[in-house]
Amino acid sequence: MSETYDLIVIGGGPAGYPCAIRAGQLGMKVACVDAWLNHDGSPAFGGTCLNAGCIPSKALLESSELYHRAQHEFAAHGITVEGAKLDLAQMQKRKTTVSRSLTSGIKMLFKGAGVVGYEGWGKMLGDGKVEFTAHDGKTETLTAKNVVIATGSAPVELKKIAAFDNDKIVDSWGALEFDAVPGKLGVIGAGVIGVELGSVWSRLGAEVTILEALPNFLPMVDEQVAKEALKHYKKQGLDIKLGAKVASAKADKKGVAVEYELDGKTETMQFDKLIVAVGRRPFTDKLGAQELGVKLTDRGFVEVDSNYKTSVDGVYAVGDVIGGAMLAHKGIEEGVVLAERLAGHAATVNYNAVPSVIYTTPEVAWVGKSEKQAKEEGFEIKTGVSSFAASGRAKALEQAVGFVKVISDVKTDRILGVHMVGPYVSEMIAESVLALEYAATTEDVALTMHAHPTLAETFHEAVLTVDGRAIHG
Ligand code: FAD
Repeated sequence: MSETYDLIVIGGGPAGYPCAIRAGQLGMKVACVDAWLNHDGSPAFGGTCLNAGCIPSKALLESSELYHRAQHEFAAHGITVEGAKLDLAQMQKRKTTVSRSLTSGIKMLFKGAGVVGYEGWGKMLGDGKVEFTAHDGKTETLTAKNVVIATGSAPVELKKIAAFDNDKIVDSWGALEFDAVPGKLGVIGAGVIGVELGSVWSRLGAEVTILEALPNFLPMVDEQVAKEALKHYKKQGLDIKLGAKVASAKADKKGVAVEYELDGKTETMQFDKLIVAVGRRPFTDKLGAQELGVKLTDRGFVEVDSNYKTSVDGVYAVGDVIGGAMLAHKGIEEGVVLAERLAGHAATVNYNAVPSVIYTTPEVAWVGKSEKQAKEEGFEIKTGVSSFAASGRAKALEQAVGFVKVISDVKTDRILGVHMVGPYVSEMIAESVLALEYAATTEDVALTMHAHPTLAETFHEAVLTVDGRAIHG
């Protein structure tokens, strides 16, 4: 028998499951179909983010940071730690527990919103029909007025150069599952995922080399911030080679030999493990999208209009699969906004206020335009920079590194962008996002009281610096 719904969401990651829940809250009869299987064969909602991305990586980043601090920072606080030992099995177990507690929570949220979860593959057949294939192979046809594609993305594989063997040459998911710290670890790609994973294993004792083909480090980040971050990463022992083009990676029992070109010379390095982190591709395999006539871009992203509608009536798409910032929170917003629009509400995503974070030490976070971007777009700008070296809270934390940079429009005084490198800036960036969302001027923030002593005062000081009226900087 064919079960009938108002909405079927294919994909239960950060774009899909909030879309399903919000639609359920708004009174629609909703199904969410998700194919995720963990390495142990267990199905789970939550997609890449909860199972193999944001959450497990942050769990390991936190654990590895604590291990590193116990060895290198506690002495400064007057705490002697003798014989700090790494129990990687426990660290990995904790990571899995953190992820699973969240993924199992989604089922409870579905229950609360009346969403029916289906664990298995969804294939669009047209006319609102979706063929559901459970993990045991049983099939069933579901029908809905509208279908949402939220099938996410998958790691890009360098098939000809460094094909994954899931042992010596791994993707980001494999790199979160190592059961021993590699002696020498190679990473192809110095993007956000590459530097985060490189940091984890470097803090746990691996000798890490990151090979990046581009000559600039973190080109999407404000130059001044990227330069500061690079300085700290190098100080921590991450060997980041810019302009290094990998030609081949050959794995054998001993490890991986990587050949790359740098400054016109061919070099070879031997690693125990190699992580390939060169980006993610939209995932539309097994979906039936092309057969149905859903238009894809030349890079394989699902094409949508400003209402997230694809080229096929009744079929919508959100999240990584439509491109743009491939971030969980961007997908969440799109999913929720789409559900609200389908229910007839007015809702919108502000793409000028999408925050980005790199969870290294120090952390990097930004929102809005970089100095270069603002100038290229013709804005006459003012900038203000305040250093965490002047922050009492940062000093008390023993983390007085980095700075906050604010970019504002001379004509309107509006804040155009905020860029941060320093302690806990992943948390601090929220205030800047709100400033952009509310179209705040530097005057608005200057007149806003900030608790003392907090790291957020450094944002306040940076804003005051725009007009040369900072007290401490
Ligand atoms: P996904 O999370 O990829 O979910 C798609 C789901 O659809 C999957 O469960 C998949 O199995 C399922 N699916 C696919 N096809 C079908 C089908 N035909 N039938 C049924 N189900 C199907 N982003 C952040 O914002 N912050 C971070 O800190 C962060 N860290 C990251 C760290 C790593 C190592 C990685 C890899 C990514 C990280 N990301 C982070 C990116 C984030 O994970 C993605 O942007 C986010 O998961 C995208 O959400 P999505 O719902 O669009 O897709």
